[in-house]
Amino acid sequence: MEDIVLKLREEHNLSDEEMSLLLESGRFDESLFHAADEVRRERYGGAVFLRGLIEFTNYCKNDCYYCGIRRSNKRAERYRLTPAAIYGCADEGYGLGYRTFVLQGGEDPYFNDERLCEIVSELKQRHPDCAVTLSVGERSALSYQRLFDAGADRYLLRHETADEDHYRALHPEGMSPENRKRCLFELKRIGFQVGSGFMVGSPHQKTEHLLKDLRFLRELEPDMIGIGPYIHHRETPFAAYPDGDVSLTLRLIAVLRLMFPYALIPATTALGTIDPNGRELGLKAGANVVMPNLSPVETREKYDLYENKICTGEEAAQCRGCLEARIRAAGYGIVTDIGHVRRGEQS
Ligand code: SAH
Repeated sequence: MEDIVLKLREEHNLSDEEMSLLLESGRFDESLFHAADEVRRERYGGAVFLRGLIEFTNYCKNDCYYCGIRRSNKRAERYRLTPAAIYGCADEGYGLGYRTFVLQGGEDPYFNDERLCEIVSELKQRHPDCAVTLSVGERSALSYQRLFDAGADRYLLRHETADEDHYRALHPEGMSPENRKRCLFELKRIGFQVGSGFMVGSPHQKTEHLLKDLRFLRELEPDMIGIGPYIHHRETPFAAYPDGDVSLTLRLIAVLRLMFPYALIPATTALGTIDPNGRELGLKAGANVVMPNLSPVETREKYDLYENKICTGEEAAQCRGCLEARIRAAGYGIVTDIGHVRRGEQS
C-alpha cells in the first residue's frame, strides 16, 4: 500500500499538501480504493443499507443557482404528495424490505411543522421498526425540535461547500453558510443522526474548497456523508457549467471512508446518473448505502434537480430488484435492517 494511503488509513487525516496530491492525481487510486474497501468491510462487512427515498414536494422557496427545482424555474411542474400518497409509498417500501424512509423535498412552506410532524408521527406509528429521515432544508431550531419530538430519527442537510465565498457563488443573497452550519449543529444537539456533504465539481470549486469541506466534516463528525457530482440543469443559471467528474467523486468517497470509518456513505443517484456503473463503483470505493426511489412513478420526473436523473420510469419493486442484482454483482449484499451508524469506540 502506498505510504500516503497507509497514513490516511491509520491517522484518518493528511496534511493539506498530501490531501491535494491524493485528490488531484489518479496515481494512488488503486491503493486508495483497496484500503477504503478493506476499512468498510472491517466495520460493516459487505452490507449495503437501503434507504427508500420519497420525494414528496418540489415546491421550493430557495433559488440555489445549481438546482433544477429552484424557485425561479418557471418551467418546473410543481407537485406535492398528499399524506395518504406518502404513507402509500412507505407501505409499499416496507413490503419490499425498506426499513428507512427518507422524506426529501424543496423548502416548501406548505409543509409547516404541524403538517410535517403529523406525517412523521403517522409513519412511525405504521412502521415502528423503521427510521424516518428528513431532508427538507433549513428550519428553525424549534422546528427541528418539534420534528424530532414527533419521531424523526435522522436529518440530511448537505453543507454544499464549506468555503464562504464559494457558498455565496452557488447561492443567492439571503442564504448563508453560517445559517447552514448553524442548522447542522442544532440538529446534532437535538439528537438527530445527522448527514451532511457536498457536490463534487460544482461551478467554481477548487481543491482548496474540497480541503475545507473535509475539515468541516471533521469538525461536525456527521453520521452520514453524502456526496455526488454536480450535474447541470438547463433551466438554471449554471446550465453551461460542466458536470462533476466521476473519478474525483470516487476518490473522495474513498477518502471519506478512510477519514470516517464509521460513516454511512451513499453511492448517490447523481453518481449513477453521470456513469451507468457509478453506484457500483461508489460501493467499491467505500460507500455502503443506496437510496432507491420510492416516489410514485408519476412524480419522479418532476423532482428534477439535474438532467437525465436515472430510475424515473421504474416501479419501486423494479428498482429494488434491479439494484439488488447490481449490488450482488459488485460483491456486496443488501440487508433489510434499520441500518444505524456503527461508531464503535469513536462515538
Ligand atoms: N431542500 C433540501 C433537499 C435538497 S436536494 C435541502 O436543502 O437540503 C438534495 C441535494 O441534491 C442537495 O443538497 C444538493 O447537494 C443536491 N443537488 C441539487 N442540485 C444538484 C445538481 N444540479 N447536481 C447535483 N446535485 C444537486
